[in-house]
Amino acid sequence: MPELPEVETVRRQLEAELVGRVIKGVRVLLPRILKNASPAELAERLIGRRLAAVERRGKFLLLQLDDGASLIVHLRMTGRLTLVDAATPDGPHTRAAISLDDGRDLRFDDVRTFGTWHYRGRDAGSLPPALAAMGVEPLSDAFTPETLATIAAGRRAPVKAVLLDQRRIAGIGNIYADEALFRAGIDPGRPAASLTPGEVGRLHASIRSVLIDSLAKGGTTVRDYLNGRGSPGEFQRFLDVYGRAGEPCRRCGTPIVRRKVAGRGTHVCPRCQR
Ligand SMILES: [Zn+2]
Repeated sequence: MPELPEVETVRRQLEAELVGRVIKGVRVLLPRILKNASPAELAERLIGRRLAAVERRGKFLLLQLDDGASLIVHLRMTGRLTLVDAATPDGPHTRAAISLDDGRDLRFDDVRTFGTWHYRGRDAGSLPPALAAMGVEPLSDAFTPETLATIAAGRRAPVKAVLLDQRRIAGIGNIYADEALFRAGIDPGRPAASLTPGEVGRLHASIRSVLIDSLAKGGTTVRDYLNGRGSPGEFQRFLDVYGRAGEPCRRCGTPIVRRKVAGRGTHVCPRCQR
């Protein structure tokens, strides 16, 4: 599933290309991706609107319109938003498309069809519940070691489960939780409350550094992820533990092991992480 660096990469690309464009048409091939509007209603609300900004919150993309409304997209497992020439035929997994005044389409392709589109009117408080409850952005100034200490305090759950909880910290999924915990030298199964202040500080720095490093490489492509121009990310070549079970730890040479933590496949160096 795309996580913060992948969604932010798409956001940056779409923002550079979409802002100022006017929506000329809306096609919805799979109506159930729309969470709160029919295809006809969505078309009526979007056609003629100019795109004012593209924002991100956690793993959600928010296409802001010039009337104060927004189209909120979640890519989920396999969703992709790609800008293509309008003459490009739909792919086998194209679920919706927005035609723009520059002769291009913003296509939404989704193999598994878990992705969602949500229309939010200017005044309506109709936010997706997961977005309304979203936690702190880990690359914002609001995310400090003290914030992380507060999030971890008193929580008996594995520290990895706390990192994955979008209500606490936004945008981290399985890949970056494993990578941040490796960089910090912390075992993912440790109760969050057991982290010392020094470990919290290391984990805070590691979360930031792994997200920034991945952003600089356009995110990670393990299976499906492609960016807004249809290209894969490059950070998969720089992963330390995720997807490397049985391969030697880059620091100590010990084979990376995969085990279940918080119900998720988790990648750990048993020597470097305590
Ligand atoms: Zn190691």
